[in-house]
Amino acid sequence: MSRYLGSVCKLCRCEKEKLFLKGEKCFLNCVFDKKRDKNTFGQHGVMKSKISDYAKHLREKQKARRVYGLTEEQFVHYYRTAEKMKGSTGDNLFKILELRLDNVVYRLGLVSSKRMARQAINHGNILVNDKKIDLPRYQVKVCDIITISEKYKSNTVVKKLVEETSSSVPAWLNFDKNKVVGTVVSEPLIGEVSYSINSQLIVEYYSK
Ligand code: SF4
Repeated sequence: MSRYLGSVCKLCRCEKEKLFLKGEKCFLNCVFDKKRDKNTFGQHGVMKSKISDYAKHLREKQKARRVYGLTEEQFVHYYRTAEKMKGSTGDNLFKILELRLDNVVYRLGLVSSKRMARQAINHGNILVNDKKIDLPRYQVKVCDIITISEKYKSNTVVKKLVEETSSSVPAWLNFDKNKVVGTVVSEPLIGEVSYSINSQLIVEYYSK
């Protein structure tokens, strides 16, 4: 299955909640914040009936997949990898997802969305330990240093983002605004992932 390239707002509508897939725009101009749309998601509005356990598990898995911008195959691959690791599968899964290079670049505030992160990486603008990495799926490790190319640094949009990034950087990352250098200081804990996702529901979905 190929990557979804349609409107990301449609994905939020599908999950009936804000997934913040458009970065800053999600705070400024989101359909969820418009009063008239609050109760009218989807063609048929909000479902009033109780959803089944299966649907609950499925929705949580889909939400996680959409937040990280992954295809089903990629998500299953990460899940199976997490299962083979020591410790809780749910915690391992989110640790792997958070340590993807596109997510790290996004969480450092160097881009305004995951899509922009993937574009920056694909165009060779992101360096890990001074080496150009053009794979969004690249797994960063503790102590890795993330920097951006000089060309990218001079981009006015990037300059503004760098200027504004500060308190939003999670505790497991460090960002030196003056040098425009990010460092992975520790592995992310489950409570530090980007969104509120119930990993247990995902584990139960794949365990059926
Ligand atoms: Fe989702 Fe952002 Fe679109 Fe709102 S603006 S629907 S949060 S992607």
